[in-house]
This record gives sequence, structure tokens and C-alpha cells, in this order.
Amino acid sequence: MTTLPAAPQKLYLLQLSASTVPAGAGRTLEMASGCYLIETGDGKHILIDSGLPADVQMPVDMPPAREKKDVIEHLAALGLRPDDIDMLICTHFDVDHAGYHDVFPKAEFIVQRAHYELARSGHPRFAAARAHWDHPVLHYRLLDGDSELLPGLTVFETSGHTTGHQSVLVRLPQTGPVLLAIDAVMMQHLFTPERVAWPMDENEEQLRASTRKLLALVEREQVALIVFGHDGAQWQTLKKAPQYYG
Ligand SMILES: [Zn+2]
Repeated sequence: MTTLPAAPQKLYLLQLSASTVPAGAGRTLEMASGCYLIETGDGKHILIDSGLPADVQMPVDMPPAREKKDVIEHLAALGLRPDDIDMLICTHFDVDHAGYHDVFPKAEFIVQRAHYELARSGHPRFAAARAHWDHPVLHYRLLDGDSELLPGLTVFETSGHTTGHQSVLVRLPQTGPVLLAIDAVMMQHLFTPERVAWPMDENEEQLRASTRKLLALVEREQVALIVFGHDGAQWQTLKKAPQYYG
């Protein structure tokens, strides 16, 4: 197989935090949060999401997160500065995904138009990180549905968690296709056609349709690895930066 020069070569998982949260009946759930860095064959760097902002805490009823490390610290550990990021894919503007966007004024920001318009209309859900994602120095490219951004890098519209949420498929030379489900499917056990919505999900019917779309994609593209957005138990088993998937 020949690889086009601009295609993704490396995928880094940048784990931003981990926590153990109560899940009822004395049980607990392992939760993780993260963002992702792609390096292409021609040396471009693409970031997917940017994490919880430094000026916002998660709700007070949540236990404090462990292993906290922000995106700037992760990039520095890889020898990168914020200005080295060429493109930033915004999966959605929830506070734990969009808190450092304004640190990357050189990047082209990619978002679904439906999501951008909903958030900019002043929807309260996206207010907590708004100063970071709605900063005047940032330039956005608005997408209408599934889009191939580069050879080997495609975003898929997966509404339901919120309108215009997007998931990402990255084709890697050795690993093969990797699906970053993000919050369309936060936990591995939710990746079923008849799943139910969680309180943070906006529309159960759309969420199910998006989950089925991703299940079909995994089948069709023979996806080698699916990364679930907040599955702490899964994240414990994954390669994390400075290691990478090649
Ligand atoms: Zn999230």
C-alpha cells in the first residue's frame, strides 16, 4: 500500500484526566477525558478538541480528577508549541472539549455548521467555554455533514449527544482505520443499536441513529480500533502520549 504524503502517520492520545465516579448501588465508573493529536506525512499537526479550561471546574458533586495534564503541557512534552497546530477539529463545544481553543490562533478550526450556529445562538450548555471557542482571533470552517478533510482523515456528523457533534476516522499506515467516537459513544458498553441516552445527551433518537451509523461504519471500513470518548477502563488499556499509534 502506498501512502499519500499528506495522510496521517501518527495518532497520539493525550489523556487530560481520569476519575472514579459513583454509578449508583455502591458501584463506581472509571471516567477519562482526553484530546487527540494527528501528525501527517508532510509534518502538519492536527488537534482534535482541547479539554476543560483552566478557569472552570467540573461540577462540585464530582470527585476530583486524577492525572490532570492540560493540552499545552502534553504538546510541550512532544516538543510542540501551540503555533505548531495547523488544524483543530472541534467535535463539539461542551466545556470539557473546547476549553483551550483560543490558545491556537494559527489553526484552522473545523466544526459542523449546525453545531456552531446552535452554540453561537447563545445556548446555555456551551456558555462555560464560550470565551475560549468564540474568540475573535479564531477562524472557523463550517461543515455540512460528513467530510473528508485529508486523504485518510474523515469527520462524521453524529448528532444526539448534541446537534452537530462529530466523530473522526483516522487511517493509519500500520494500525489501520481508527474511529474516535468522542461523545457520540462515551463508553464501550453503550456501543449497541438499542442504547439509552444519558442525562447530558440532547436527543435519544438521534443518538441511536448516530450510534447505528458508527456501528455500520466500523463494519464497512473494518475499523481496527474504536476509542470511546470517556471510557476510563478502556483508556487504561490504550497507548497514550508520548506513545502513539502509527
Ligand atoms: Zn465530553
